[in-house]
Amino acid sequence: MKWKQQLFGMKAYQPGKPIEEVKREFGLEKIVKLASNENPYGYSPKVKAFLESDHTNHAIYPDGYAQNLRTVMANHLGVKETQLMFGNGSDDLIAIVTRALLYPGVNTVMATPSFSQYSHNAEIEGAEVRQVSLKDGKHDLKAMLEAIDENTSIVWVCNPNNPTGTIVSDDELTNFIQKVPSDVFIVLDEAYFEYVNSPEYKDTLHFVEEYPNVLVMRTLSKAYGLASFRVGYAIANEDIIKKLDPVRAPFNNSILSQKVAIIALEDQEFIQETTEKTALGKKQFVAFCEKHQLNYYPSQANFILFEVKADSDTVFKEMMKRGYIIRSGNALGAPGYIRVTIGTEEQNEEFLRLLEEVLTELGVFA
Ligand SMILES: *Cc1c(COP(=O)(O)O)cnc(C)c1O
Repeated sequence: MKWKQQLFGMKAYQPGKPIEEVKREFGLEKIVKLASNENPYGYSPKVKAFLESDHTNHAIYPDGYAQNLRTVMANHLGVKETQLMFGNGSDDLIAIVTRALLYPGVNTVMATPSFSQYSHNAEIEGAEVRQVSLKDGKHDLKAMLEAIDENTSIVWVCNPNNPTGTIVSDDELTNFIQKVPSDVFIVLDEAYFEYVNSPEYKDTLHFVEEYPNVLVMRTLSKAYGLASFRVGYAIANEDIIKKLDPVRAPFNNSILSQKVAIIALEDQEFIQETTEKTALGKKQFVAFCEKHQLNYYPSQANFILFEVKADSDTVFKEMMKRGYIIRSGNALGAPGYIRVTIGTEEQNEEFLRLLEEVLTELGVFA
């Protein structure tokens, strides 16, 4: 068959082990997954109440334009309805943007380590991937500018960055966007937008008005606690949305996901409460790192990447045996580190107690 050459040797995304499988394998009653940056408090109680009494007819197609959700989202963000596109998660938006703008002969610039889907999708389209190493855990925007040439089609800024949680400040971003050539598409992936509380991080939607080549993407999978419903959204100028929309699959958000997204958006109190708790939870991890002199990245997201002074995979396995699933830094381009989603206060406490035990057993702590 006439497969794309680049598919040979490519691997599918490796999700964390399913909870049920880990329970069986290790004979555990309880498993806590702190691996995928979901909201440990779940979703708004208003969404829960709706789901318990819902009678949606799933035999019919959803509204492919997501009109009701679009109206609510446009009001929420203060943008025009025509400036929005919804995706089956922002993973879908990344694929749409890539499919629209990348092909053999062009290149795409991104940081490394960063979110793996930028390079993964680019490889499928046969485009050249230019990865620029983080500097002190942050996007090296100067080096990224230097990596851009006349064949660059997309530059990705993951802000806050996954897996480090570090941010690009408003000043740095403004300076960068000014210097990127206007025919290079700039994607600002803000999957963790709701968690940021640094005064250096400002709302980026004004860039969408000021520059013809900027797209911002966000998601309801993280702070909104709706990962399973698959709702991501992009904000850009109308011309960009018009160009991208034909690439989008016709019914890429289910009826239920559209309804649930509206209810979730209207409960900003839930977002406020849970992001505040997460900020406090992050302090538990920072205190642990300080106490044990482990390097960590200053995270503005709901996860933290920190040093374990041991083999990451070993720590990952030892923590799994004790009922906690996390991400090994080996899989994220950060060997010697682990990435942990901030859980509830009790989860964090227990996790850190068990980690201390593991690192002591491994001889890291005297
Ligand atoms: C989780 C994540 C996404 C994907 O989220 P969806 O569930 O597909 O909306 C996109 N970008 C980053 C940086 C992420 O961490």
